[in-house]
Amino acid sequence: MTGVAERAAAAFAERYGEPPAGVWAAPGRVNLIGEHTDYNNGFVLPFALPARTAVAAGRAGEGWAAWSEHAGGEPVRFGVDDLTPGAVQEWAAYVAGVVWSLRKNGHRPPGARLAIASDVPTGAGLSSSAALECAVLTALNDLGDLGIPEAARPALAQRAENDYVGVPCGIMDQTASVRCRSGHALLIDCGRDEVEQVPFDPAAEGLAMLVIDSRAPHQLVSGEYATRRKACEAGAAALGLPSLREVGDLDAALARLDDEVIRRRVRHVVTENQRVLAAVAALRAGRIRAIGPLLTASHASMREDFEITVPEVDTAVETALVAGAHGARMTGGGFGGCVIALVESGAAGAVGEAVREEFARRGFRPPAPFVTVPGAGAERIG
Ligand code: ADP
Ligand code: MG
Repeated sequence: MTGVAERAAAAFAERYGEPPAGVWAAPGRVNLIGEHTDYNNGFVLPFALPARTAVAAGRAGEGWAAWSEHAGGEPVRFGVDDLTPGAVQEWAAYVAGVVWSLRKNGHRPPGARLAIASDVPTGAGLSSSAALECAVLTALNDLGDLGIPEAARPALAQRAENDYVGVPCGIMDQTASVRCRSGHALLIDCGRDEVEQVPFDPAAEGLAMLVIDSRAPHQLVSGEYATRRKACEAGAAALGLPSLREVGDLDAALARLDDEVIRRRVRHVVTENQRVLAAVAALRAGRIRAIGPLLTASHASMREDFEITVPEVDTAVETALVAGAHGARMTGGGFGGCVIALVESGAAGAVGEAVREEFARRGFRPPAPFVTVPGAGAERIG
């Protein structure tokens, strides 16, 4: 298969009868560590995948047309009058949502035709939704010379997903898709809205980052996500704090909470923030292998304290560790999605194979392991 840029440009020419003005792309992401910390004003450490969503775009008189190779069929068309949330449905809501969010925040996105191609797997917890939003946003910003600073873009894309599509995600996915750099993970301080590039180049140290799509059917996600958020808010409120980020002495805080479930939810968030900062310190010191135990501890915390794992992801983590991974954890919101494992480069095949065999033995759907490296953030690519 040809690259996403070529596919998007060819689709544009075929649909709209002229070449695009340009092609823009934004990546999916993997969260290295820091789960369910973003909406608690905490820390996360994602990196961008080389897999990206490309948008070939050209200006149009008024209104918008969007076509995606995922959906096929005719382009979805909408105008200014169709921009109330709910008016544009299904996948095109992510595109209309970006236009809506830009306009709502005082920008004037130009009328445009868009053709979309993507190598980011959808619904696997690798954030194809943010990749789509951020690619469209970057394209419209450049096409219309909107001059939106990079730091302001993630929140505009997040608003599209939260308020137009209606998915209550935190700020991590869009920030990663816009602001990641190749060869780096991105420390996001979600409370202060600040980012720092952290060198992360496993291949240079003889290591590989294995991503294993558990392929667990995850239906529980949105309801469970909402209950976890509520539990965290209740924990912060009971402690008289604006958010769980402000918890200083964990033991003292836990002693003040009498609800057993909330106590465990709080312990996950507070210890997870500590693990993110410990991982950053290790990476900055050039000790990539040292993040292995932090990844594994993060998984245990998600399994026992936050209770967001499922048998498929627990099996993938345990099997990867037995097969020699330095560390492994579920990445993403939970109840399925992907597992990441830090392995010696030469062991990636064997670890992937061990997981495949164990899944077959347990009758799970065959997982899809692949090795990845930290890729670039949203940019013009053609
Ligand atoms: P994730 O972001 O983890 O991949 P989501 O459920 O948040 O999962 O987003 C997946 C949805 O985003 C898809 O069902 C589809 O509506 C939309 N989407 C993502 N990428 C594309 C694409 N390239 N073309 C059309 N729709 C897409
Ligand atoms: Mg998503």
